[in-house]
Amino acid sequence: MPSETLDQFLQHNLQDLKDQGLYNEIDPVDGANGPEITINGQKLINLSSNNYLGLATDDRLKEVAKDAVNSHGVGAGAVRTINGTLDLHVKLEEKIAEFKGTEAAIAYQSGFNCNMAAISAVMDKNDAILSDALNHASIIDGCRLSKAKIIPFEHSNMDDLRQKAKEATESGQYNKVMVITDGVFSMDGDIAKLPEIVEIAEEFDLITYVDDAHGSGVLGKGAGTVKHFGLQDKIDFQMGTLSKAIGVVGGYVAGKQELIDWLKVRSRPFLFSTSLSPADVTASRKAIDLLMESTDLYDQMWENGNYLKAGLKELGFDIGQSETPITPCIIGDEKTTQQFSKRLNEEGVYAKAIVFPTVPRGTGRVRNMPTAAHTKDMLDKAIKIYEKVGKELGVI
Ligand SMILES: *Cc1c(COP(=O)(O)O)cnc(C)c1O
Repeated sequence: MPSETLDQFLQHNLQDLKDQGLYNEIDPVDGANGPEITINGQKLINLSSNNYLGLATDDRLKEVAKDAVNSHGVGAGAVRTINGTLDLHVKLEEKIAEFKGTEAAIAYQSGFNCNMAAISAVMDKNDAILSDALNHASIIDGCRLSKAKIIPFEHSNMDDLRQKAKEATESGQYNKVMVITDGVFSMDGDIAKLPEIVEIAEEFDLITYVDDAHGSGVLGKGAGTVKHFGLQDKIDFQMGTLSKAIGVVGGYVAGKQELIDWLKVRSRPFLFSTSLSPADVTASRKAIDLLMESTDLYDQMWENGNYLKAGLKELGFDIGQSETPITPCIIGDEKTTQQFSKRLNEEGVYAKAIVFPTVPRGTGRVRNMPTAAHTKDMLDKAIKIYEKVGKELGVI
């Protein structure tokens, strides 16, 4: 007999979300996730992916992925420590370390998994973690899993961080103290103040952990936020994802050899979950090769990002304080934001509404993710549609 308690729980809570307008209908994309997508038979300009460099559909990645399937099959066959470490995994990790400027690297099945794995492999209940208030959900969950004391600091507020670092270290209550931050914050596109974070970390002997999911491929000529600031020797954990700019799937930590050695024996998703598939690791390695060889895609992404930003700003939209191609269009009220996104969609632009609880109440926004794969023509069309919908709803 199925559980009646569960049925009641689900019915009640689903209805509740729907009543509040917070239930998210998921749209299946017909075909590949490119700069244009088809949903329910309608072709749309796609401004919602994290596929910054357009690599998710790049022919060069597809070719090597097919070759890897032919030579190594579709699955790794085991967890890494049993016999799921293929030569391909080792090659990818060597490439990541080279790209990031570190001694070594370890790959995981996703960025989310990586934060579950790496934080709790090092931090425990006798430790404390200073965590930026706007850190990603996977950082929050990774910190919780470690059982360390979580001490949030105000978003990018270095006075607050310094004060809390001082209190935590002077209290003598903790064996180790870590500071953890996103490199680029995905809802606003602002960059973490890493030089100041490093200074505070040095002053109070903090372990430093940067989640660069939105910085890798996007800053530092592709190598990320840490490289952008030239701090490769100062950050202990350079965590990143292979799922966004790299265009495939997976996550990694780059750092000192001993850190990576430790993660290989102590991080649970590495020990108890099957490794990335041959196609994934090979395509990811190819993507990094391309980024190391040329900045063409990187330059194109920045050009497109700046073009879209200038266009929307000129129309009078509030595009916030982004320092990266992430382009929020801040509408404010949740209902209007949802309506705005729906109307964009009907007119041919796919840009999702992001509202509470993902962002604070009253700061609802439509977030645009321009990529290297968009053409000027697509961006011009998108800007025209924004103008039409903006005027119609009285936003501009
Ligand atoms: C997307 C994201 C992740 C998760 O990465 P996946 O590879 O998609 O699991 C982790 N951290 C941040 C900051 C992210 O934006």
